[in-house]
Amino acid sequence: MVVDVALEPISLDGAIFSKPVIMAGPCSAESEEQLLNTARPLADMGIKIFRAGIWKPRTRPNAFEGVGSEGLKWMQTVQKETGMMVATEVANVKHVYEALKYGVDIIWIGARTSANPFAVQDIADSLRGVNIPVLVKNPVNPDVDLWIGAIERINNAGIKQLAAIHRGFSSYDKTLYRNVPQWQIPIELRRRIPKLPIITDPSHICGNREFLYDISQKAMDLNFDGLIIETHCNPDKALSDAKQQVTPDGLKQIIDRLVLREPEINEELMLTLAELRDQIDKLDDRIINILEERMGVSEKIGTYKKDNNITILQTKRWDDMLKTRLNLGNRKGLSEEFIIKLFRSIHQESINHQTNVMNQE
Ligand code: PEP
Ligand code: MN
Repeated sequence: MVVDVALEPISLDGAIFSKPVIMAGPCSAESEEQLLNTARPLADMGIKIFRAGIWKPRTRPNAFEGVGSEGLKWMQTVQKETGMMVATEVANVKHVYEALKYGVDIIWIGARTSANPFAVQDIADSLRGVNIPVLVKNPVNPDVDLWIGAIERINNAGIKQLAAIHRGFSSYDKTLYRNVPQWQIPIELRRRIPKLPIITDPSHICGNREFLYDISQKAMDLNFDGLIIETHCNPDKALSDAKQQVTPDGLKQIIDRLVLREPEINEELMLTLAELRDQIDKLDDRIINILEERMGVSEKIGTYKKDNNITILQTKRWDDMLKTRLNLGNRKGLSEEFIIKLFRSIHQESINHQTNVMNQE
């Protein structure tokens, strides 16, 4: 279901930013010099929005927790010296008041905060009657409704210049990424709130510099609206998130390599695509029919097991089945991961059908 959210395009100084919006700047403000040394080359590259964390939500105590309000004065210097807009994270009402007092242009709600409805509601209430763009990061846990809920709370307080930031999701498993992108979640967000701009945060997804380009390009290929990339004049010496920050020049290299494809396509391409999509629709139709047939057979097995008093799950059969499907799939160029997921899910559905049959009077 589409969520009803009242939105206005994000307009800063009267100009509506064209896609892709690029926000850049350090993870944390560390000193006035560091901010200016980072901001100046960014402004020269044409970047309009400067990011820096003033209050840092660190996972463990005793890590660098940000310079606090003093850094807001440095942000004002950046505004004056470069003409850029400045953006920072707020995590509570005090942060909101301080950020507004010092003329911050854009605020964002961090991933740990958007996971907490009480905190988001407090921030929303403190923003009533204020006209400032607010960006809402996805919550740390992969819950699209919680993300939408945070956006709705801010919107219900009268904030209409809203965007989402996709920064990936925590996972206990060691993966390639610091926060797994789980692209299906921002895609679902787009489906539910089609007009809401989505900005991807490759820095917090990757946790290192290596994959920043790939994630940025993928966001562009999904027609997302912008990127927020942590940029520092001396990344290796950064007081937070050193491994994932790039120099302004490193950022330029990423941006220059980005390929922006057209979401609107011409009629001939449309027709070819429509034809191919039609083939896909027909194939999916066949898949569904085959699955229906397969479930019918499962139900027959269920009846047989019921009549003969045998349990549903026989693990040996499942292991053998999976082996043959993996072999077959392998020969047809289907990945092991896909075959396992597919047949687990088919098997689960079969068990459900069999249970229904066995539990019928
Ligand atoms: C940040 O942007 O520096 C930050 C702390 O991000 P997140 O809330 O995504 O962890
Ligand atoms: Mn950071």
